[in-house]
Amino acid sequence: MASSRRDLAVRAAVDQGLLSSAEPVVALLDTAGIRTSAAALTSAFAAVTDAPVLHAFAVKATPLVPVLRLLHEAGLGVEVASPGELALARAAGVPPAETVLDSPAKTPAELRQALALGIAVNADNLQELARLDALVASAPTASPLGIRVNPQVGAGSIGALSTATATSKFGVALRDEGARKAVVQAYLERPWLTRLHTHTGSQGVPLALMAEGVGEAYALAEEINRTVGRQQIDTLDIGGGLPVNFHSDEETPTYAEYARLLADTVPGLFDGRYGLVTEFGRSLLAKHGTVLARVEYTKTSGGRPIAVTHAGVQLATRTVYAPDAWPLRVLAYDSEGRPRTGETTVQDVAGPACFAGDLLATGRELPLLHQGDVVAVPDTGAYYFAHHYAYNSLPRPGIHGFTVTENGGGDGGEGGDGVVAFTTVRKPQTLAEIVAESGGAHANALVG
Ligand SMILES: *Cc1c(COP(=O)(O)O)cnc(C)c1O
Repeated sequence: MASSRRDLAVRAAVDQGLLSSAEPVVALLDTAGIRTSAAALTSAFAAVTDAPVLHAFAVKATPLVPVLRLLHEAGLGVEVASPGELALARAAGVPPAETVLDSPAKTPAELRQALALGIAVNADNLQELARLDALVASAPTASPLGIRVNPQVGAGSIGALSTATATSKFGVALRDEGARKAVVQAYLERPWLTRLHTHTGSQGVPLALMAEGVGEAYALAEEINRTVGRQQIDTLDIGGGLPVNFHSDEETPTYAEYARLLADTVPGLFDGRYGLVTEFGRSLLAKHGTVLARVEYTKTSGGRPIAVTHAGVQLATRTVYAPDAWPLRVLAYDSEGRPRTGETTVQDVAGPACFAGDLLATGRELPLLHQGDVVAVPDTGAYYFAHHYAYNSLPRPGIHGFTVTENGGGDGGEGGDGVVAFTTVRKPQTLAEIVAESGGAHANALVG
């Protein structure tokens, strides 16, 4: 069980000195959990199709080289959306043939590099397609090339993460006047355009709406191939976006449910005529990351208990600025890292930053936190601790992978006798690094 592994890891992080008064916040990644999610993804699609599928992990969800290497070892590729993400993927050893480049603002240099390497590229718009025309004419490339379309099927519950609205900034807006015709024409004129891409959304978008977006892209591919008179589009990239449950340890919805829904609603997608690319991010990593932070002080204000911790806006930026859209659980442990149980009290859990809104949780029912306690913030493996926000020059925390091995005859570690081993995924940022990244080498720049 992921939750018993987490309890063991919290205890061990305190025991082994990973979390201490000198190092009051760290992040953990559950290696076995990540492997399990990767296997669940590949087997969910293998259960519904014999077509070749590249599962390209959306690097932006957790841009950490060791994570990319682990996923690659588990059979996944990568989806990158910037030169930085591509550099991470290459550092992890992911080959160009398993790399997909999507982004709405690729420069000519980025496109040239991608085509020189043979990385798949999805053009976001017709201006980008014109740049590809020039590159394709100037040198041969192994890159599979496609166009991203926006099926405009509508929004989910979080506007900022809904990519298929009528006015989304992504892709060619298919329902706009003349757009569909222009896309079909673009394929007719370019025999080297062999892919079609859509990504209907992320957290907050229901599965049925995701499937509707994929269905629209499939219908367009069929129309294009019919018009051209051959299977010119040979691969459909259906994006990512499986939502994550932030309310409990349950992993729902599952990849298997989504794959079955696609098989029911867009059966032609899986009949073998198309290769497939997926681009899941959050759903592969979110559940496998946990932030641990020490409670530095406790106090009451207006009668409400407040625990002041070291985890706040720098690690949980979305939650702090948009708490209703991005609720996170907070789990209470004592100073030895043992779960606190028993009676609960309504309290606030605050971060270390100097603004009043820096709260991880407001009015939350939890066992009363004490000075020196540890709070764990689960479900933070994607878009949280790997997305540091440098408010107050707070350092990026260290990130540690962990594995649990049974210590003789246990049945899953429930009894707390598993042995936890940690490995460094990323070292904590040092003060010297903060100074260097803050113009330290240019101290006189504004006074000369
Ligand atoms: C962000 C993004 C993804 C991944 O979305 P998740 O919600 O993390 O699964 C996939 N494809 C594209 C094009 C994206 O922008």
